[in-house]
Amino acid sequence: MRKRFAKILATVGPASAAPENLRLLHDVGVDAFRLNFSHGSHEDHARSVAAIRQVEKDTGHSIAIVADMQGPKLRVGEFETGQIELKYGEEVELYLGKDGGKAGHIPMNHPEMFAVMDAGHQLKFDDGKLMVTILSNLGEKMTARVDVPGTLKNKKGVNVIGATLPMSAMTKKDRKDMVFALSEDVDWIALSFVQTAQDVIDAREIIGDKAKIIVKVEKPSAVEDLHEILNHTDAVMVARGDLGVELPLEEVPVVQRKIIRAARSLGKPVIVATHMLESMIDAPTPTRAEASDVATAIYQGADAVMLSAETAVGRHPATAVAIMDRIIGAAESDPEFWNYFRSRPLTHDATGEDAISISVRSIADMMKCKAVLGYTLTGSTVQRISRERPPCRIVGLTPRRKTASQLALSWGVLPIVTHDPSNFDDMIEIARDIAKEEVNAVSGDKILISAGIPFGIAGTTNTLKVNTID
Ligand code: PEP
Repeated sequence: MRKRFAKILATVGPASAAPENLRLLHDVGVDAFRLNFSHGSHEDHARSVAAIRQVEKDTGHSIAIVADMQGPKLRVGEFETGQIELKYGEEVELYLGKDGGKAGHIPMNHPEMFAVMDAGHQLKFDDGKLMVTILSNLGEKMTARVDVPGTLKNKKGVNVIGATLPMSAMTKKDRKDMVFALSEDVDWIALSFVQTAQDVIDAREIIGDKAKIIVKVEKPSAVEDLHEILNHTDAVMVARGDLGVELPLEEVPVVQRKIIRAARSLGKPVIVATHMLESMIDAPTPTRAEASDVATAIYQGADAVMLSAETAVGRHPATAVAIMDRIIGAAESDPEFWNYFRSRPLTHDATGEDAISISVRSIADMMKCKAVLGYTLTGSTVQRISRERPPCRIVGLTPRRKTASQLALSWGVLPIVTHDPSNFDDMIEIARDIAKEEVNAVSGDKILISAGIPFGIAGTTNTLKVNTID
């Protein structure tokens, strides 16, 4: 049993993909793995899925697998010499094309860009390291002034600032990758560069109920449409890498706070991602500022924090996870952490789920319960209980493997696969046994059990039982 409540999502890559490394990362604290479809072949990802499922079998712990789609990443074309220099104040030409680039002439094979960009809009290259401002657009050619100079290499990423491109968040590659990921039975699909709620609706048509959806918020248009997007997605990621290129840097912390608040008030898991322990790609310890960044996300109420290059290509993947685990644990041990949630009441719906969830929160507080054990088919009630941030372990009991693995991303939830109880006494018996085994409940400890009766029907949560372990 993990001691902490917030979860750790780690990206798989060459530094972590070997089965023994995935097992080690799980053992030191990883609750969910991210397969990054911007890199690696389908065979690589299939091997990772098999190895992670093996860790689930060997340890009896449910682990979430997130397939992260590349999305419509825009790139410059190719230069005759592989790269060019952009000089400060220089006027350059951007043209519709794949190759043939040379000094002062930049190919870009994205007609959508030429369709909407105008004087004053900007383009950033290579994760924002270089920037030009558009001076004019003649249809298939644009002129631009170099504002931030540097070396521009073949195929470097491009971010459009100031204009919304008429593009879907799903490319042909994403559709293929999604179908493949679903055939591998992944638990979550993460959508990159979502701009509108319609992007989520389109993806849901392909995904159906085979996986849940995480929207990566990394475009200003997604920030503007946040509430509508949150209504359609199952979870959200603050993808600070691209977000910090598309938005002025200083807005990233403000947007992070806003997204965490909005997602939590809707009870949808929220992940804070990118650069969390960046210096640990090389160094064996993080900077103090990085430790503080992880703790801030926890204090703000994130369900999960993510490691990217630290575990994908870094030199110390297991140490990065272990340090993240300690930082989360320390923040959660601070009484201020719990006071924050108490001081921020949520609004509730007139549903059985919410009535039970508020009761769990106040009974767990009043009676110092050891755990709440919630029977769930889809994970929905347990997710609502997690939203309340009760000061005790939340055990999600479900007959569905996928529900259990999906819940591995939710704050405070320990998912357990078990059969549905046959009657009320059986319900108590199963929950008591699991409480003893999984959360070390001992004689005299109080537990709470939530369920929907009759058993086995989704959406019927209507029962809350207080029980004392004998
Ligand atoms: C990000 O941009 O922060 C992110 C998580 O996306 P990716 O790593 O796919 O660029």
